[in-house]
Amino acid sequence: MYEGAVQDLIDELGRLPGIGPKSAQRIAFHLLAADPADVQRLAAALTRMKSEVRFCRVCGNVAEAEECRICRDARRDTTVICVVEEPKDVVAVEKTREFRGRYHVLGGAISPIDGIGPDDLRVRELMQRLADGAVTELILATDPNLEGEATATYLARLVKPLGLTVTRLASGLPVGGDLEYADEVTLGRAFSGRRRLDV
Ligand SMILES: [Zn+2]
Repeated sequence: MYEGAVQDLIDELGRLPGIGPKSAQRIAFHLLAADPADVQRLAAALTRMKSEVRFCRVCGNVAEAEECRICRDARRDTTVICVVEEPKDVVAVEKTREFRGRYHVLGGAISPIDGIGPDDLRVRELMQRLADGAVTELILATDPNLEGEATATYLARLVKPLGLTVTRLASGLPVGGDLEYADEVTLGRAFSGRRRLDV
């Protein structure tokens, strides 16, 4: 539709989640009209994010070092692990201030339709973390939707022989949605009211 660089930018923006063709066009023309310094800052933030941010080698959360801020924090409870799908879920749970343990970020959920199985997620890494028996409770905080439930059930069965307490967040979360859509109070309540998951 447009020529060269503008169209390239519209195409790239259009690949981002939640940005349709119209929004991509609006953003592109906004940037075209913007102060060069502002655009430079945006470009620098993108480049810096890709070169400096990596994933924590312990939990899979975003980190600026080998290990993330939470894994490095000696005050966090090492006997409880909260399993979530994405790094954004860590942020959502942290906001509730209900949890003082550590996390394990799976990198998604089991979804046969999308061809995502346990081997595509950080399940093996989770099992390695549980191997020494130091963790006594595993909280399955995957999303309250079909894939999230399937993933929670799969993990609960997988860790059953280890004999640790496996819990799932209490009901009250909006069913079918993402963990991050729940407000802090609701998520906090679901956390403190978590129940033992028996499979
Ligand atoms: Zn970590």
